[in-house]
Amino acid sequence: MRELLNAFIDLVFPAKCTFCGCMDDVDSTTNICKKCNIKLPYYKEEYRQFKGNKRQQHRGFRKFEEVYCLFEYSGAVKKTFVEYKFRGDVTVYKSFAVLMHGMLEYENAYMDIDFITSVPLSGKKFAQRGYNQSGLLAKRISKLSDIPYKEVLARPMQGQTQSKLTEEERLGIKDRFVAINEEKIQGNNILVIDDILTTGSTLDEVSNLLLDKGANKIYAAVFASGRKDL
Ligand SMILES: [Zn+2]
Repeated sequence: MRELLNAFIDLVFPAKCTFCGCMDDVDSTTNICKKCNIKLPYYKEEYRQFKGNKRQQHRGFRKFEEVYCLFEYSGAVKKTFVEYKFRGDVTVYKSFAVLMHGMLEYENAYMDIDFITSVPLSGKKFAQRGYNQSGLLAKRISKLSDIPYKEVLARPMQGQTQSKLTEEERLGIKDRFVAINEEKIQGNNILVIDDILTTGSTLDEVSNLLLDKGANKIYAAVFASGRKDL
């Protein structure tokens, strides 16, 4: 019955390609057409899953077990992502989440994970935009993978938590991350979802914080990276 219903929905509301908007040969699970799928800048297989200890040797990043990346941040991926970021298009983030979930399943990335979380936006950006695209992705991936989503990070606007910071912290850092629901962090293996990796410093900061608060292992997955190799 459900299959029949889905077939009916496909007929009445044919899927539109997330990247080019066409309706020809669109995969109804990923919402990507065949033409786009061939052209998309998927991250090179040898770099898609990056071991933390390799990272340590080459880049000075220390704290991850693994980092997974789906796309290079270029071409149609960059264009669609920028549109999505500012429009908050629900169908687009669903499509992105399905793609990331497919990669994470393929890489066996869920095996060791207790829960999923996301990198929060700064309070100011969140207030402007009204949603956090990494959070939308992470919650959707949680549904698809059946692994719980938990909020354990926040990024309050400067001023909100100043009284809790030391003088040194107050001077150097703006909109820094803080841990919330700390009891949920302790002893757990956490998959952190972020949208775009640029230098990697955000994920590093988040990872350090979670480990300081007692997390066991940190994994990370990003939709796209501005770096050719992670
Ligand atoms: Zn397309």
